[in-house]
Amino acid sequence: MGETKNDSDRRIGRRALLIGGAAAAVGTAVLAREELSHLWWRMPGVEKPRTPGAVDFRGASWVAASSANYRRADRPSDYAIDRVVVHVTQGSFDSAVRVFQDPGHQAAAHYIVRKDGHVTQMIRELDVAYHAGNREYNERSVGIEHEGFVDRASSFTDAMYASSARLTAGICGRYGIPVDRRHIIGHVEVPGTDHTDPGPHWDWDRYIRLVHQAASAKSATSKPATSKPAKS
Ligand SMILES: [Zn+2]
Repeated sequence: MGETKNDSDRRIGRRALLIGGAAAAVGTAVLAREELSHLWWRMPGVEKPRTPGAVDFRGASWVAASSANYRRADRPSDYAIDRVVVHVTQGSFDSAVRVFQDPGHQAAAHYIVRKDGHVTQMIRELDVAYHAGNREYNERSVGIEHEGFVDRASSFTDAMYASSARLTAGICGRYGIPVDRRHIIGHVEVPGTDHTDPGPHWDWDRYIRLVHQAASAKSATSKPATSKPAKS
């Protein structure tokens, strides 16, 4: 895919700018403690602390993808997240997990939703997963794979829709992403892609409706962004 090419250059340039701005701000005004700690994470080589095995979606189980299939980042501090990209695996859940663990695959999504609704997270939302085939879209999005095939309507079960909708509602809530078809898109809608997923059998009206429902249910009970992985 060649998506990693020049990524580090771009990131360093961006960070140098931010640091310059921070230094100027410190020179002219006393920054609130909160602002300072926010800027601190934007310094080169500084990352937010991570708990091994932690997941961003409560109930997800954690299986690490190969580090060759994503790029470490500190989203949303370094890249704003404003898209969710829906994919279909074109194979079984197990084969998707396997290829995302394979350093030669050169691609992986943050999540895989199994036919029975089980959710596995393989890349933290902090990081840039190589799932969209478009660097800008990788940087701005969270990618969700769904077990199944684009040409089989039977792939997309009630349990899968319900659980994926809860997952997407959580992502939209965490980053302030509007729940609509402009911000929740299929891989097919990523500029420049030759992929067709999720295909004609994916019911977008139903999915967006379920995400809205899950989002309003969630807003009544606010949850932490990070929780321990569930046993699977
Ligand atoms: Zn895809």
